[in-house]
Amino acid sequence: MRKLSLLLLVLLLAFTSACSQTKEKTPTEGGKTTLKIGYLPITHAGPLYMEEHVHDEQVEGYDVEMVKFGSWPDLMDALNTGRIDGASVLVELAMMSTEQGIDLKAVALGHKDGNVLITSKDVQETADLKGATYAIPHKFSSHNLLLNEMLKKDGLTYEDVNVVEMAPAEMPAALSEQRIAGYVVAEPFGAQAVVLDKGKVHYHSEEIWPESYCCVLVLRNDTIQKNEEAVQSFIAQYVKGGELANKKDEAVYESFSEFMKVEKAVLDLSLQWISYDDLRLEEEEYDKLSAFMVEMGLTENPPAYEEFVDNTFIDKVK
Ligand code: ZN
Repeated sequence: MRKLSLLLLVLLLAFTSACSQTKEKTPTEGGKTTLKIGYLPITHAGPLYMEEHVHDEQVEGYDVEMVKFGSWPDLMDALNTGRIDGASVLVELAMMSTEQGIDLKAVALGHKDGNVLITSKDVQETADLKGATYAIPHKFSSHNLLLNEMLKKDGLTYEDVNVVEMAPAEMPAALSEQRIAGYVVAEPFGAQAVVLDKGKVHYHSEEIWPESYCCVLVLRNDTIQKNEEAVQSFIAQYVKGGELANKKDEAVYESFSEFMKVEKAVLDLSLQWISYDDLRLEEEEYDKLSAFMVEMGLTENPPAYEEFVDNTFIDKVK
Protein backbone atom coordinates (compact mmCIF):
# COMPACT_ATOMS: atom_id res chain seq x y z
CA MET A 1 0.00 0.00 0.00
CA ARG A 2 2.82 2.30 1.01
CA LYS A 3 4.75 1.48 -2.18
CA LEU A 4 1.68 2.15 -4.25
CA SER A 5 1.12 5.59 -2.65
CA LEU A 6 4.79 6.41 -3.22
CA LEU A 7 4.51 5.41 -6.87
CA LEU A 8 1.38 7.51 -7.26
CA LEU A 9 3.12 10.47 -5.65
CA VAL A 10 6.12 10.15 -7.99
CA LEU A 11 3.83 9.93 -11.00
CA LEU A 12 1.80 12.89 -9.80
CA LEU A 13 4.91 15.01 -9.24
CA ALA A 14 6.20 14.11 -12.71
CA PHE A 15 2.82 15.03 -14.15
CA THR A 16 2.55 18.35 -12.32
CA SER A 17 6.08 19.39 -13.21
CA ALA A 18 5.42 18.49 -16.87
CA CYS A 19 2.32 20.63 -16.70
CA SER A 20 4.08 23.55 -15.11
CA GLN A 21 6.71 23.44 -17.87
CA THR A 22 4.16 23.55 -20.64
CA LYS A 23 1.72 25.75 -18.79
CA GLU A 24 1.27 29.23 -20.11
CA LYS A 25 2.03 32.01 -17.71
CA THR A 26 -0.97 33.91 -16.39
CA PRO A 27 -1.90 35.77 -19.55
CA THR A 28 -1.21 39.43 -19.69
CA GLU A 29 -2.47 41.94 -22.17
CA GLY A 30 -0.87 45.33 -22.32
CA GLY A 31 0.82 44.57 -18.99
CA LYS A 32 -2.48 43.58 -17.39
CA THR A 33 -2.79 40.35 -15.46
CA THR A 34 -5.82 38.21 -16.22
CA LEU A 35 -7.13 35.99 -13.46
CA LYS A 36 -9.06 33.11 -15.02
CA ILE A 37 -11.72 31.98 -12.58
CA GLY A 38 -13.72 28.80 -13.15
CA TYR A 39 -17.31 28.30 -12.06
CA LEU A 40 -20.38 26.16 -12.57
CA PRO A 41 -23.62 28.05 -13.27
CA ILE A 42 -25.10 27.55 -9.80
CA THR A 43 -26.46 29.85 -7.08
CA HIS A 44 -23.49 28.91 -4.88
CA ALA A 45 -20.99 30.88 -6.99
CA GLY A 46 -23.05 34.03 -6.36
CA PRO A 47 -20.39 36.48 -5.15
CA LEU A 48 -18.59 36.05 -8.48
CA TYR A 49 -21.68 37.10 -10.41
CA MET A 50 -22.51 40.19 -8.47
CA GLU A 51 -19.99 42.93 -8.44
CA GLU A 52 -19.28 44.14 -11.94
CA HIS A 53 -15.70 44.88 -10.94
CA VAL A 54 -15.13 41.21 -10.28
CA HIS A 55 -15.45 40.27 -13.93
CA ASP A 56 -15.76 43.38 -16.01
CA GLU A 57 -12.25 44.64 -16.81
CA GLN A 58 -12.91 47.73 -14.75
CA VAL A 59 -10.42 47.37 -11.99
CA GLU A 60 -7.12 48.90 -12.79
CA GLY A 61 -4.19 46.57 -13.17
CA TYR A 62 -5.93 43.27 -13.84
CA ASP A 63 -8.87 41.57 -15.51
CA VAL A 64 -10.98 38.69 -14.30
CA GLU A 65 -12.09 36.22 -16.93
CA MET A 66 -14.96 34.01 -15.86
CA VAL A 67 -14.63 30.48 -17.28
CA LYS A 68 -17.79 28.38 -17.25
CA PHE A 69 -17.67 24.59 -16.81
CA GLY A 70 -20.33 21.91 -17.20
CA SER A 71 -19.09 19.55 -14.49
CA TRP A 72 -16.88 19.46 -11.40
CA PRO A 73 -14.36 16.97 -12.89
CA ASP A 74 -13.81 19.24 -15.92
CA LEU A 75 -13.36 22.27 -13.67
CA MET A 76 -10.96 20.43 -11.34
CA ASP A 77 -8.90 19.20 -14.29
CA ALA A 78 -8.46 22.78 -15.52
CA LEU A 79 -7.60 23.99 -12.02
CA ASN A 80 -5.15 21.18 -11.28
CA THR A 81 -3.28 21.66 -14.55
CA GLY A 82 -3.16 25.47 -14.35
CA ARG A 83 -5.46 26.25 -17.27
CA ILE A 84 -7.41 28.42 -14.83
CA ASP A 85 -6.02 30.36 -11.87
CA GLY A 86 -8.82 29.71 -9.43
CA ALA A 87 -12.42 28.63 -9.06
CA SER A 88 -15.52 28.55 -6.95
CA VAL A 89 -15.61 24.84 -6.18
CA LEU A 90 -16.80 22.19 -3.74
CA VAL A 91 -14.41 22.43 -0.80
CA GLU A 92 -13.94 18.65 -0.63
CA LEU A 93 -12.68 18.48 -4.23
CA ALA A 94 -10.17 21.26 -3.58
CA MET A 95 -9.03 19.47 -0.41
CA MET A 96 -8.46 16.24 -2.34
CA SER A 97 -6.34 18.06 -4.94
CA THR A 98 -4.29 19.61 -2.13
CA GLU A 99 -3.86 16.19 -0.58
CA GLN A 100 -2.53 14.97 -3.93
CA GLY A 101 0.09 17.70 -4.06
CA ILE A 102 -1.60 20.46 -6.07
CA ASP A 103 -0.77 23.76 -4.38
CA LEU A 104 -4.17 25.39 -3.93
CA LYS A 105 -5.30 27.89 -1.29
CA ALA A 106 -8.86 28.45 -0.14
CA VAL A 107 -9.14 32.23 0.19
CA ALA A 108 -12.87 32.64 0.95
CA LEU A 109 -16.09 30.70 1.27
CA GLY A 110 -18.56 30.59 -1.62
CA HIS A 111 -21.51 30.78 0.76
CA LYS A 112 -22.92 29.35 3.98
CA ASP A 113 -26.03 27.18 4.30
CA GLY A 114 -28.06 27.17 1.06
CA ASN A 115 -28.53 23.43 0.56
CA VAL A 116 -31.75 21.48 0.93
CA LEU A 117 -32.38 17.76 1.19
CA ILE A 118 -35.19 17.09 -1.26
CA THR A 119 -37.53 14.12 -1.22
CA SER A 120 -40.55 13.07 -3.22
CA LYS A 121 -43.76 14.23 -1.64
CA ASP A 122 -44.76 10.79 -0.34
CA VAL A 123 -41.72 10.62 1.96
CA GLN A 124 -43.03 11.57 5.40
CA GLU A 125 -39.99 10.79 7.52
CA THR A 126 -36.36 9.85 6.93
CA ALA A 127 -37.13 6.19 7.76
CA ASP A 128 -39.20 6.08 4.57
CA LEU A 129 -35.92 6.39 2.65
CA LYS A 130 -34.76 2.95 3.82
CA GLY A 131 -33.89 0.93 0.71
CA ALA A 132 -34.64 3.91 -1.55
CA THR A 133 -32.30 5.51 -4.09
CA TYR A 134 -30.99 8.96 -3.15
CA ALA A 135 -28.83 11.13 -5.43
CA ILE A 136 -25.76 13.25 -4.67
CA PRO A 137 -23.61 15.18 -7.16
CA HIS A 138 -20.25 13.74 -6.10
CA LYS A 139 -19.00 11.66 -3.20
CA PHE A 140 -16.54 14.47 -2.40
CA SER A 141 -19.23 17.03 -1.57
CA SER A 142 -20.86 18.54 1.48
CA HIS A 143 -24.07 17.13 0.02
CA ASN A 144 -22.79 13.64 0.71
CA LEU A 145 -21.79 14.70 4.24
CA LEU A 146 -25.21 16.28 4.82
CA LEU A 147 -26.95 13.10 3.68
CA ASN A 148 -24.86 11.03 6.08
CA GLU A 149 -25.55 13.44 8.97
CA MET A 150 -29.29 13.39 8.25
CA LEU A 151 -29.40 9.58 8.18
CA LYS A 152 -27.46 9.37 11.45
CA LYS A 153 -29.66 11.98 13.12
CA ASP A 154 -32.78 10.00 12.25
CA GLY A 155 -31.43 6.59 13.20
CA LEU A 156 -30.47 5.24 9.77
CA THR A 157 -27.06 4.35 8.38
CA TYR A 158 -25.56 5.36 5.06
CA GLU A 159 -25.86 1.71 3.96
CA ASP A 160 -29.64 1.83 4.51
CA VAL A 161 -29.97 4.01 1.41
CA ASN A 162 -28.84 3.35 -2.15
CA VAL A 163 -26.71 6.45 -2.76
CA VAL A 164 -25.99 7.29 -6.41
CA GLU A 165 -23.96 10.03 -8.06
CA MET A 166 -25.95 11.94 -10.68
CA ALA A 167 -25.53 15.06 -12.82
CA PRO A 168 -27.32 17.87 -10.92
CA ALA A 169 -29.44 19.02 -13.88
CA GLU A 170 -30.84 15.49 -14.20
CA MET A 171 -32.02 15.26 -10.58
CA PRO A 172 -35.38 17.13 -10.71
CA ALA A 173 -36.48 15.00 -13.71
CA ALA A 174 -35.23 11.78 -12.08
CA LEU A 175 -37.29 12.65 -9.01
CA SER A 176 -40.46 13.36 -10.96
CA GLU A 177 -40.00 10.07 -12.87
CA GLN A 178 -39.56 8.29 -9.51
CA ARG A 179 -36.12 6.99 -10.48
CA ILE A 180 -34.89 8.47 -7.19
CA ALA A 181 -36.66 9.18 -3.90
CA GLY A 182 -34.71 12.35 -3.27
CA TYR A 183 -31.48 14.28 -3.72
CA VAL A 184 -29.21 16.86 -2.19
CA VAL A 185 -27.17 19.11 -4.48
CA ALA A 186 -26.05 22.68 -5.11
CA GLU A 187 -28.78 25.14 -5.91
CA PRO A 188 -30.89 25.98 -7.88
CA PHE A 189 -31.72 22.31 -8.53
CA GLY A 190 -33.45 21.80 -5.18
CA ALA A 191 -35.59 24.91 -5.64
CA GLN A 192 -36.47 23.67 -9.13
CA ALA A 193 -38.23 20.57 -7.81
CA VAL A 194 -40.13 22.65 -5.24
CA VAL A 195 -41.26 25.29 -7.75
CA LEU A 196 -42.30 22.56 -10.22
CA ASP A 197 -44.14 20.88 -7.34
CA LYS A 198 -42.31 17.60 -7.99
CA GLY A 199 -40.69 17.37 -4.59
CA LYS A 200 -40.45 18.98 -1.16
CA VAL A 201 -37.83 20.18 1.26
CA HIS A 202 -37.27 17.36 3.73
CA TYR A 203 -34.59 19.31 5.61
CA HIS A 204 -32.74 22.59 5.22
CA SER A 205 -28.99 22.11 5.61
CA GLU A 206 -28.89 24.33 8.70
CA GLU A 207 -31.26 21.93 10.51
CA ILE A 208 -28.63 19.21 10.05
CA TRP A 209 -25.38 21.20 10.09
CA PRO A 210 -25.72 24.96 10.78
CA GLU A 211 -23.58 27.33 8.69
CA SER A 212 -22.20 24.37 6.77
CA TYR A 213 -19.29 24.91 4.40
CA CYS A 214 -19.87 23.75 0.84
CA CYS A 215 -18.22 25.82 -1.92
CA VAL A 216 -15.01 27.81 -1.55
CA LEU A 217 -13.09 30.24 -3.67
CA VAL A 218 -9.69 28.68 -4.30
CA LEU A 219 -6.67 30.06 -6.10
CA ARG A 220 -3.53 28.34 -7.28
CA ASN A 221 -0.71 29.32 -4.99
CA ASP A 222 1.61 30.11 -7.93
CA THR A 223 -0.97 32.66 -9.12
CA ILE A 224 -1.13 34.16 -5.63
CA GLN A 225 2.67 34.43 -5.40
CA LYS A 226 2.96 36.16 -8.79
CA ASN A 227 -0.02 38.52 -8.43
CA GLU A 228 -0.44 39.46 -4.78
CA GLU A 229 -1.81 42.95 -5.43
CA ALA A 230 -4.30 41.80 -8.03
CA VAL A 231 -5.41 38.95 -5.77
CA GLN A 232 -5.91 41.36 -2.86
CA SER A 233 -8.09 43.59 -5.01
CA PHE A 234 -9.98 40.61 -6.42
CA ILE A 235 -10.78 39.25 -2.95
CA ALA A 236 -11.97 42.71 -1.84
CA GLN A 237 -14.31 42.84 -4.85
CA TYR A 238 -15.43 39.28 -4.20
CA VAL A 239 -16.39 40.06 -0.60
CA LYS A 240 -18.26 43.13 -1.82
CA GLY A 241 -19.99 40.91 -4.37
CA GLY A 242 -21.12 38.64 -1.53
CA GLU A 243 -22.53 41.58 0.41
CA LEU A 244 -24.44 42.79 -2.65
CA ALA A 245 -25.73 39.28 -3.44
CA ASN A 246 -26.94 39.00 0.13
CA LYS A 247 -29.39 41.85 -0.53
CA LYS A 248 -31.31 39.42 -2.76
CA ASP A 249 -32.97 42.25 -4.64
CA GLU A 250 -33.83 42.82 -8.31
CA ALA A 251 -30.21 43.71 -9.17
CA VAL A 252 -29.15 40.30 -7.90
CA TYR A 253 -31.50 38.51 -10.29
CA GLU A 254 -30.19 40.57 -13.20
CA SER A 255 -26.54 39.89 -12.36
CA PHE A 256 -27.05 36.18 -11.71
CA SER A 257 -28.99 35.81 -14.98
CA GLU A 258 -25.88 36.75 -16.90
CA PHE A 259 -24.14 33.65 -15.58
CA MET A 260 -26.89 31.07 -15.04
CA LYS A 261 -30.13 30.37 -16.86
CA VAL A 262 -32.78 30.22 -14.19
CA GLU A 263 -36.42 31.16 -13.73
CA LYS A 264 -36.93 34.06 -11.36
CA ALA A 265 -39.19 32.08 -9.01
CA VAL A 266 -36.56 29.32 -8.75
CA LEU A 267 -33.70 31.73 -8.09
CA ASP A 268 -35.75 33.69 -5.56
CA LEU A 269 -36.46 30.52 -3.61
CA SER A 270 -32.88 29.27 -3.67
CA LEU A 271 -31.67 32.72 -2.56
CA GLN A 272 -33.97 32.54 0.47
CA TRP A 273 -31.96 29.56 1.71
CA ILE A 274 -28.41 30.84 1.24
CA SER A 275 -26.08 33.32 2.94
CA TYR A 276 -23.15 35.16 1.32
CA ASP A 277 -22.29 36.97 4.51
CA ASP A 278 -18.98 36.65 6.35
CA LEU A 279 -17.06 34.50 3.88
CA ARG A 280 -13.96 33.90 6.01
CA LEU A 281 -13.03 30.23 6.53
CA GLU A 282 -12.85 29.53 10.25
CA GLU A 283 -10.66 26.79 11.71
CA GLU A 284 -13.31 25.23 13.94
CA GLU A 285 -15.77 24.80 11.06
CA TYR A 286 -13.06 23.54 8.71
CA ASP A 287 -11.97 20.94 11.26
CA LYS A 288 -15.57 19.83 11.66
CA LEU A 289 -15.84 19.33 7.91
CA SER A 290 -12.53 17.42 7.84
CA ALA A 291 -13.74 15.16 10.66
CA PHE A 292 -16.95 14.38 8.74
CA MET A 293 -14.86 13.39 5.69
CA VAL A 294 -12.60 11.13 7.77
CA GLU A 295 -15.62 9.56 9.45
CA MET A 296 -17.10 8.70 6.04
CA GLY A 297 -13.80 7.21 4.86
CA LEU A 298 -13.42 9.82 2.11
CA THR A 299 -9.88 10.62 3.26
CA GLU A 300 -7.44 9.59 5.97
CA ASN A 301 -5.33 12.74 5.94
CA PRO A 302 -7.27 15.87 5.02
CA PRO A 303 -5.02 18.92 4.54
CA ALA A 304 -4.46 20.86 7.75
CA TYR A 305 -6.23 24.21 8.07
CA GLU A 306 -2.90 26.12 8.02
CA GLU A 307 -1.89 24.34 4.82
CA PHE A 308 -5.17 24.70 2.93
CA VAL A 309 -6.58 28.06 4.02
CA ASP A 310 -5.05 31.46 3.28
CA ASN A 311 -6.93 34.23 5.09
CA THR A 312 -4.28 36.92 4.56
CA PHE A 313 -6.31 38.56 1.80
CA ILE A 314 -9.79 38.41 3.32
CA ASP A 315 -8.38 39.65 6.63
CA LYS A 316 -7.20 42.85 4.91
CA VAL A 317 -10.65 43.55 3.46
CA LYS A 318 -12.45 46.21 5.47
ZN1 ZN B 1 -21.99 25.20 -2.45
